[in-house]
Amino acid sequence: MKKMFDLTGKVAIVTGGNGGIGLGMARGLASHGASIVVAGRNAEKTALAVQELQGLGATASGVTVDVKDEASVQAMVAAAVGRHGRVDVLVNNAGINVRKPPHELSLPEWRDILETNLTSAFLASNAVYPHMKRGGGGKIVNIGSMMSIFGAPFVPAYAASKGGIVQFSKVCANAWAKDNIQVNAVLPGWIDTDLTRRGRTEIKGLDERVLERTPAGRWGVPDDLAGIAVFLCSAASDFVTGTAIPVDGGYAING
Ligand code: NDP
Repeated sequence: MKKMFDLTGKVAIVTGGNGGIGLGMARGLASHGASIVVAGRNAEKTALAVQELQGLGATASGVTVDVKDEASVQAMVAAAVGRHGRVDVLVNNAGINVRKPPHELSLPEWRDILETNLTSAFLASNAVYPHMKRGGGGKIVNIGSMMSIFGAPFVPAYAASKGGIVQFSKVCANAWAKDNIQVNAVLPGWIDTDLTRRGRTEIKGLDERVLERTPAGRWGVPDDLAGIAVFLCSAASDFVTGTAIPVDGGYAING
């Protein structure tokens, strides 16, 4: 039987891999042998993340990207292929949120969120597809959210983008199965990152509500996403495609 979780020789691009959940996933992939291309906007943050991954013994490098911009996304993939000759894994993780009810959200805010969280996955998936096909297969992991399932009143564009991510994952899984490319979504619960730290100050009582509803009794940390990343990017998940897996300490099953 093949070594199921071994990522030696695999090349992974992680968008938003310079912090939070993306870095947690990158740590998992790196510690199982993958070479990592960390893609983010903030070059300083990216350099620190690269240094950390190299400290784990991994081959890692950074690339500056705006995931909303088609040319920039193509340049990100070209950089990965130029450095390593291949791309085996794409984690579409970069994301933003603006917390306002629908009647207060502006069109530019709506577009910014949809483009960053959803259009980005379309652009990057299309850009890696020919390389994965040529390499004989690949793994794409798209980051959804509890808002892929639920509809909190303060996240109109965010929930629309994260619902869209799940449907887009199913389509790509279906279209590219013949190319041995598996595409899945991960739905993180409430994870302690820059994104939610701001949310905790903006939404009164959020911290208490999360702790109360999460059976695990705590917020997640970025490293809680490392295991699912390794599973979905390795041979262990070769017959798993088009699904959306919550990693939420039980939040979604608590009525
Ligand atoms: P962070 O704010 O820590 O990370 C967001 C990442 O996205 C950063 O690395 C940022 O890079 C990158 N990013 C944002 N916009 C762009 C852009 N235009 N181009 C390139 N990179 C960009 O938040 P999280 O780690 O929490 O979020 C990561 C993902 O997980 C998001 O998709 C989020 O929606 C999702 N998620 C988070 C949950 C949570 O509880 N934290 C729950 C469910 C889903 P830079 O810093 O360089 O700008």
